[in-house]
Amino acid sequence: MDQFMKRAVELALNNVKEGGQPFGAVLIKDNKVVSEGVNELHKTYDVSGHAELLAIRRAQEQLQTNDLSGYTMYASGEPCPMCLTAMYFAGMEKVIYCQSVEDAVEAGLDKSQFIYHELKKSREERSLQIIQMSLTGELDNPMKAWKSKQL
Ligand SMILES: [Zn+2]
Repeated sequence: MDQFMKRAVELALNNVKEGGQPFGAVLIKDNKVVSEGVNELHKTYDVSGHAELLAIRRAQEQLQTNDLSGYTMYASGEPCPMCLTAMYFAGMEKVIYCQSVEDAVEAGLDKSQFIYHELKKSREERSLQIIQMSLTGELDNPMKAWKSKQL
């Protein structure tokens, strides 16, 4: 196991000792640690307080950028769909994980697997209702407003 994964797993183990979930993450650029995170759901009322998201947030704040292309995420556990999506939004191209979503299910942490399955379903089949409303004439169209600003 390389030093970065070792650090991610150590973070996860320490988090368990402190009452948290078994997830740690380390964000790397040019063979150096840029930021770290652990799952903080036991400390904060924030469902986005996942290890990878916190590592991304800290790096972006520190570097004042939304672009993390060229960065690699080392995560003790396979990223959930939310964290994976954040990595896509940040332009990342590589994530290395140790324990799988299936390992998490065995440990009693089944949300990630559930959501991965939900995302494969059509909008109508998902357990979370998603309802579209049409724009009425009373409001300007935000997409058109944005597009016209780009020209
Ligand atoms: Zn996550």
